[in-house]
Amino acid sequence: MPPRLLSRRVPGGSLKVVAAKAPRNLRRHNVRLLFIDEADGMEATAEGSPIVLAERRTLSFPDRKIVFGSTPVHEDASHVLRAYAQSDQRIFEVPCPECGTFSEITWDAITWDEGAPESARWRCPHCAAEIEERHKPGMVEDGRWRALRPEVQGHAGFRMNALVSLHANASWAKLAAEFIGAKDDPTTLQTFVNTILGQGWRAEGEELDETAMQARAEPFSLDKVPAEVLALTVGCDVQHDRLELTYIGWTETGCMLILGHRVIWGAWDADETWRELDTLLAERFSHDLGGRIGINATAVDAGDGTSMNRVTDFCRARTRRKIVAIKGAPGNRPVIERAGSKTKTGARLWIVGVDTIKTQIFAKFPRASSVRFSDSLPAIWYEQATAERAVIRYSRGQPVRQFVRVPGRRAEALDCTVYAVAARQLVNIVPEVRRADLAQAEPVTAPKRPVLQSEWMARR
Ligand SMILES: [Zn+2]
Repeated sequence: MPPRLLSRRVPGGSLKVVAAKAPRNLRRHNVRLLFIDEADGMEATAEGSPIVLAERRTLSFPDRKIVFGSTPVHEDASHVLRAYAQSDQRIFEVPCPECGTFSEITWDAITWDEGAPESARWRCPHCAAEIEERHKPGMVEDGRWRALRPEVQGHAGFRMNALVSLHANASWAKLAAEFIGAKDDPTTLQTFVNTILGQGWRAEGEELDETAMQARAEPFSLDKVPAEVLALTVGCDVQHDRLELTYIGWTETGCMLILGHRVIWGAWDADETWRELDTLLAERFSHDLGGRIGINATAVDAGDGTSMNRVTDFCRARTRRKIVAIKGAPGNRPVIERAGSKTKTGARLWIVGVDTIKTQIFAKFPRASSVRFSDSLPAIWYEQATAERAVIRYSRGQPVRQFVRVPGRRAEALDCTVYAVAARQLVNIVPEVRRADLAQAEPVTAPKRPVLQSEWMARR
C-alpha cells in the first residue's frame, strides 16, 4: 500500500494521520500532540524506529504530549511493554463485592468447572470468594487506577485486559470458551494472550531440539498418507546444483504432517532439472481414505538473483496448479502476499514473511499436537530444520526478533518447510468435500514418466 497522509483542519490546529512505514512522512511535520497506535506492529525502517523518529518531531514543543498504545506482541521485543515498564505502571483495580478489597482482574483468577466454560467466575485473590459475571458492571463502575510506581513523574502508563470489558463478547464465560478453543495451538494461544489478556507472548523453545523431534517420528510417509491429511503443499528450495522439496500434509485443524523430503540433483540452469521437478509436482499419492492425493500448492524459491528468471518462467506456466515463485522477506509481515511490482521480465513474485512463519514453526515444532514427523525423514532433515535460533537483536536501540544460523549448519529443510507453510495459504479446502474426493478410488493411470524401454521394445 502506498504511504498515506490524511490532513484535516480542526478547531485550534490541524490533525495529520501518517503511516509509520514512510520515514519521510514522519520527518515532514513537527507536532505538539503525538498519538501512536499499534506500536508493536511497527517495524524499524532504514532510518530507524518509526517510533523514535516520530517522537523526535515533538522535541521543539516544551508542552508536548505523546500517547502511545498497542496490543503487545512479543514480550522480549515489545515497544509498548518497554514503554510501560518505564512508566508509573498504573493498573485498573475493582472492588470485590464480598470483601471490598481492590484487585486487578487477572486470567489466573478466572475459574470454571471442568468442561463448563459457561460457569466462569472470578475468584477474589483476598477472600477467595467466587464472584459471578453479573457483579462485573458494578465492580468496573467502582474501579480505579493505581500506580505501582508512583515515584515516576511525567510518564503515565496504563495497562488493561479484556477481563474488565463489559462487551457481551468479552464475558468471562465467552473468554473461557475462547481460551479452550485456542490453547492447543501456539498461534491461536498467542493471539488470545496478546489481544484478550493484553500480555506479550514468550515463545517456548527459542532453540529447537532436533533429537526430541526425531524421537516423535511416526510410521507414515508419502507412500502412506494418513486419512486426516486433507491438503498437501510443497516448499522447494533452489540451490545451484539441486532442488530440495519438503512435503507437508495438513489436517482440518491445521496440524502439519511432514510427509517427506526429496532432492533433485541437477544444475539450476539445466532443462532436465526442471522437467524432473514438473514430474514430481504432478505425482499423486495413495491416501488412507482410499483414493489419491495430489499437491495442492507449491512455493518455489526465486530469491536467488541468478536463478530468479528460471524459477519465474517455470512457475508462470503453472499458476493453474498453484505453483508459485516466491521470495522471502524478513520482519513483521504477512505469511504470503503478492509483490507490489513485477520483476524485470514481467513476472509476479509472492513475498513470503519468513520471520513470521519461523516464529510459528518455533512455537509448533515442539508440540506433538501441532506437528508430526514421518519416519521416512533422514536425520539430516531434522538437523537442517533446527538450523536457526531465535535471538533478540537491538537495531538502533530497538529490540527486534531475528533468526540466526547455528554456525556450520545448512538450513534447506527449514527453508523448504517455511515455503510449504506459505503455500498452504494459497489453498482453500472444504473438509467434507475433500474427504469425499480423497475416498474416490482412482483407476491406475498410465505411467507419467516416459517409459523409454517399452518404446524401444516396440520397435521392429
Ligand atoms: Zn474478596
